[in-house]
Amino acid sequence: MEHTRRNKIVDLLKSKEIGSEVLVKGWVRSKRGNKNVNFIALNDGSVIHTIQVVAEVSNFQEETLKLVTTGSCIAVKGILVESVGQGQSVEIQARGIEVYGSADAESYPLQKKGHSLEFLREIAHLRPRTNTFGAVLRVRHAMAFAIHKYFNDHGFYYLHAPIITGSDAEGAGAMFRVTTLDDKNPPMLPDGHVDYAQDFFGKETKLTVSGQLEAELGAMALGLVYTFGPTFRAENSNTPRHLAEFWMIEPEMAFYDIHDDMDLAEDFLKYLIRYALDNCIDDLEFLNKMYDTELIARLHQVVDDKFERLSYTEAVTILKASGQQWEFPVDWGTDLQAEHERYLVEKHFGKPVILTGYPKDIKAFYMKMNEDGKTVRAMDVLFPKIGEIIGGSQREENLEALLKRIHEMNIPEKDVWWYLDTRRFGTAPHAGFGLGFERLILFVTGMSNIRDVIPFPRTPKNAEF
Ligand code: ATP
Ligand code: MN
Repeated sequence: MEHTRRNKIVDLLKSKEIGSEVLVKGWVRSKRGNKNVNFIALNDGSVIHTIQVVAEVSNFQEETLKLVTTGSCIAVKGILVESVGQGQSVEIQARGIEVYGSADAESYPLQKKGHSLEFLREIAHLRPRTNTFGAVLRVRHAMAFAIHKYFNDHGFYYLHAPIITGSDAEGAGAMFRVTTLDDKNPPMLPDGHVDYAQDFFGKETKLTVSGQLEAELGAMALGLVYTFGPTFRAENSNTPRHLAEFWMIEPEMAFYDIHDDMDLAEDFLKYLIRYALDNCIDDLEFLNKMYDTELIARLHQVVDDKFERLSYTEAVTILKASGQQWEFPVDWGTDLQAEHERYLVEKHFGKPVILTGYPKDIKAFYMKMNEDGKTVRAMDVLFPKIGEIIGGSQREENLEALLKRIHEMNIPEKDVWWYLDTRRFGTAPHAGFGLGFERLILFVTGMSNIRDVIPFPRTPKNAEF
């Protein structure tokens, strides 16, 4: 078959050029038919739908059609014709078929339809070929693009925070160590500790848990910046909302206070969800039908509703008065769990909630203290089905106040001297937040396990693919 530009199925399904010659390349989802004619459902990843290829058996060698199995990859040259069948407007009358690679019907794991999501996690190398993962991965791409578009359109600069960090002070969770020392015989100090001075970077290094501290450095020069990169947390939390490797979006804004921060978070989330509704509706309709029949309605509702804003203290009062049985008891000063967050969002307010004014003891050292001396200018955005989707704050820009917090929390000043320099030289009020990319994708796709919204999930005891 001569080399011509292939037609993408997404374009052909909308094409009005009946009678034209087309070339499609993709993976066979199914083949049925009889001794005279074969119907091949072909998908090329450009859209959730398949295009039907009609092959008259007499036009092809028997061996060729035999190799066209579920999962095989083929190229088809043919004529685009109107379809008489249900559910599609056009189909392809095949003139030539080239088989790039057959797939053995006995051993191809996706031979049958309707596998469980648990089973598909065990074949993460093949699951992108299912309708579900095709849809999720296209939505994920669209959301990544929309994030960059939103920030670019709003005058933010994309700042690349390092993935390997020598800072231990991000305080957002347990960290993975990065080292090139000999694991059988590392250099030791007399006190029994490993001598990291001899390691690659001349000090102990870890994978980052957050790009925020670096984003703050950028904001103190460029005004509006954001990071968007992988982050790593070694917590052994096997929940449907935690990954050991996840992507985070962290905007940081000079001259923003906590209210500006909340306004940005709300506008940003609504923009992203609207973008998905406007650009991914085929995939969302599929997910709505297969997994979550309230998905599209919920997305519209979040775009339309004004988020409820209240303080942590008010939220605790509501939770205590709710009469609910909690797995984790709630009292002023405790961190809220997903069950509490979801009660506020789903049962009490029936819309997204932004909580502010958290107790200082459950939040990071860099958050700006309120006048009460007990609470900080933190804000968490809580979403239906998810709980916390964003965590953010106004930052402490006052050097003395920041130093006081650092000492209270026993953070060695020498570990954050560069961070403190921003407060020493030209300090400015500023604020920012972190959006967990996979939590956003969970919400937008209606999937219920975070392992199913990232191509290759990293979770405790799982890094095969
Ligand atoms: P949680 O309380 O849900 O564990 P957190 O308060 O530890 O989250 P932050 O440090 O505030 O999380 O991180 C900012 C955002 O990153 C969170 O709001 C969430 O959307 C996301 N996030 C945090 N930890 C994880 C994780 N392990 N896997 C996926 N997303 C995460
Ligand atoms: Mn948080």
